[in-house]
Amino acid sequence: MHDYGSGKKNSAGGLMTRIPGIIVVEPSAEQSKYRAAEVFARKQPKQLKLSNDIESVKEHLREVRHEARDDNAKLLERLKNTLAGFGVNVRIAADGKEAASAIRQIAGDTRLASINKSNIVVNEIRPDLKSQGFETYIRYFTEFSKNFEPEVFKKELEDYWSLAGMHDRGLMESFAVRKKFSSLPKGDIRDYVVILGVNAISAENGDVFFLQHMSNISHDLEQARKVILVVGIEKVAKDSDTALFHTRSMGIFGLESILLDLKPNDLERFDFDGLPVLADQPERSIDVIILDNGRSKLLNGIYEDLFLCIDCRNCARQCPIGLHVFFERGLVYSPKNYLLGFLQGFLPPVDACLHCGRCHVECPVEIDIPTLIWKAQLEHYEHHKRSLKKRMLDDPEMLAKMGTLTAPLSNWMVHIPIVQYMTELFTGVHRNSHLPTFHRETFRDWFKGGKRG
Ligand code: SF4
Ligand code: SF4
Repeated sequence: MHDYGSGKKNSAGGLMTRIPGIIVVEPSAEQSKYRAAEVFARKQPKQLKLSNDIESVKEHLREVRHEARDDNAKLLERLKNTLAGFGVNVRIAADGKEAASAIRQIAGDTRLASINKSNIVVNEIRPDLKSQGFETYIRYFTEFSKNFEPEVFKKELEDYWSLAGMHDRGLMESFAVRKKFSSLPKGDIRDYVVILGVNAISAENGDVFFLQHMSNISHDLEQARKVILVVGIEKVAKDSDTALFHTRSMGIFGLESILLDLKPNDLERFDFDGLPVLADQPERSIDVIILDNGRSKLLNGIYEDLFLCIDCRNCARQCPIGLHVFFERGLVYSPKNYLLGFLQGFLPPVDACLHCGRCHVECPVEIDIPTLIWKAQLEHYEHHKRSLKKRMLDDPEMLAKMGTLTAPLSNWMVHIPIVQYMTELFTGVHRNSHLPTFHRETFRDWFKGGKRG
């Protein structure tokens, strides 16, 4: 663990912290004209030229993400200096364990934490926080109605996300800057810490960006006794404009996937607003933890494209297997998160992947996740015996042939609970997975038969 720029003391001996800007980006109200799904189904008015707009956003995104990946070491150095200049405490943690023990030091006697729903906090640090005795809650879930009924929850979500009126000012403005904090707001402080995985950060001036879906982040910044920001090393952008573009792109490409694993979850419920307001209203400071957790080893190797990821989770939208594999572990799911978790050593190999390629097609920065998963599996099985499940899944062609030959019977059978159970038992493909539909006529037959066009 390395410390940089420990907070300067003021004349009274307290911490004197200037903070970098904290910028919260949200969908703009104007979007309520159209629903997200409609926009992505290309049902918006033609004059918006959405598809052109999307292609240009992707192109620019690829450009800035390649630049961020290639300059990562330089950007990281610059960020450390920038943050040290603010007097913000900065720690570099090699892994989740180091991050959690740093958080314990920062938190003092408090063992109650609000966390945001980010891969880095939920998947990588939360288990170690639990070992350190923390109670952690994803406050996002607590922002919904008090009664938490599944139907009410669904309606509130849908109402909130009745958006994406990608209006004529263009896609980017669909996610507006809602709040900018240049100091931590005073008053109504309660005895808990907030641990936030940041979506992007500017190396040039330290501005920190969050994509907010409800009001959880703003509330935590106002109420928590300590604010702890966790930065994955791939989240560093060269300047504020680039970091804002990164964050907005997350919103644009993540619109639908955000809803994937959101279900009322009583275990996450905690009434932070109901905590007593601290009488002494302590002076607050911000701590930043820069987390590596195996990332730097991936740079300059076959997995370096994972650095291009903006964590939009669009790759999760069409993946037939992953939601269940992750959801039941309480993790934030995406095929990329799964692969990263495996490379970081806390998840088993991604045997259940069907190599269908859907995640690659959906990725705005074109990360070839299926090929990377293949490579990870190959490396792993050089040193480990392949299970029967694995041998079956390694022959998707054979599985596809069986499904095609027996269609439509095979399509009917995959919906029978006992068949779903057996499939899960023998192949590891979860019983609730949405498997592709088989057709008797293959694409080759169709092409040869001249029925095209
Ligand atoms: S290739 Fe694998 S990870 Fe990607 S969508 Fe298909 S099953 Fe999911
Ligand atoms: S890998 Fe997935 S989460 Fe990452 S940028 Fe691509 S679609 Fe988004």
